[in-house]
Amino acid sequence: MNQRWPEWLSLNSNIRELKPYGAPQIPAQVRLNTNENPYPLDESLQNKIISEISQRVSNLNRYPDRDAIELRTTLAEYINGISNTDFSYEHIWAANGSNEILQSIVLAFAGDVMGFEPSYSMHPLITKSVGKKWISISRGPDFEFQLEVATEAIKQHRPGIVFLTTPNNPTGGSISLADVAEVAKVALAVGAILVVDEAYSEFSKESSSVTLIKDHPNLIVSRTMSKAFAFAGARLGYMISNPTMVEAMLLVRLPYHLSELTQAAALAALKNRTALQQQVEQIKQSRDLLVEELLKIGLHVVSSDANFVMFSGFKVSSQEFWQRLVDRDVLVRDVGIPGYLRVTIGTEAENKAFLTALLQALNL
Ligand SMILES: *Cc1c(COP(=O)(O)O)cnc(C)c1O
Repeated sequence: MNQRWPEWLSLNSNIRELKPYGAPQIPAQVRLNTNENPYPLDESLQNKIISEISQRVSNLNRYPDRDAIELRTTLAEYINGISNTDFSYEHIWAANGSNEILQSIVLAFAGDVMGFEPSYSMHPLITKSVGKKWISISRGPDFEFQLEVATEAIKQHRPGIVFLTTPNNPTGGSISLADVAEVAKVALAVGAILVVDEAYSEFSKESSSVTLIKDHPNLIVSRTMSKAFAFAGARLGYMISNPTMVEAMLLVRLPYHLSELTQAAALAALKNRTALQQQVEQIKQSRDLLVEELLKIGLHVVSSDANFVMFSGFKVSSQEFWQRLVDRDVLVRDVGIPGYLRVTIGTEAENKAFLTALLQALNL
């Protein structure tokens, strides 16, 4: 999209050349392009959310709890339960999706912003939209994170904020806890904050970086309920860090940013999260099965610790192969890496439909 803005429109120069975030939302039968959890919330949870919300509707003339204390307390309990940590609400900040968390971080802290690409496209987009400089460092030949390249780049460029995405989107691989700790240390030495984007943590074999926070004061871990929690439509993201950095978030958040309804829905989902673990297990198993099938077909698959896999080995361009799948009612993601496409793990039926369409598209 090469949009031409009118002459008279004094758009900020830093956003003039940007393209909006835009995964195509086209009405295919099988939609495997935005890494959502394919399973709807189970019915009893739906009812609990409705009941939690209905109790609050009579109060909508009032602003919500600006600091979302109950929600942050419950998020802390969730994290403590899975990571054996000891956080309270003071270590947690919550917002409308982790994208808002990431934007608040980039707004609050000084300096250039560095990331290791290919990675999540919103990191550079948010950086540029607030008028900051994005420093892109490349990953290795199969998109693996390279510790020495990263630490050298941090020492050389001295950024203010460093992004690590683990498991990485769109490629799927994880970064070891030891590597995260080393990056945090090197970042601190140049006065940089390290943001670990863990949007897919629940699907990963690697433990969460939250256990490193006590030893690394500059570490922020960003998480979301959009993926594993099957809650993308509700918009709830959060971060875990030492309380000083949470206090900095209060300076850049908009007043009453998290609606009463969002807080209520997220609380209900967190308090009734047992069904979730089962789904995550199912998705991980389906992922491993799908990877086996793709390898059997003779495609190359980038090792994935998330709820999606990136593959290559088809003989036409990504755009052409993407279109062949769309023509068969299957929507995957062209992530802009030539020769590769990314597919989200769906239900068993969806994965089967994807494989059928894939075989047809390969044999054209
Ligand atoms: C999906 C995703 C997010 C954020 O999603 P929200 O819905 O805004 O929470 C953040 N980071 C990565 C790497 C993602 O893939």
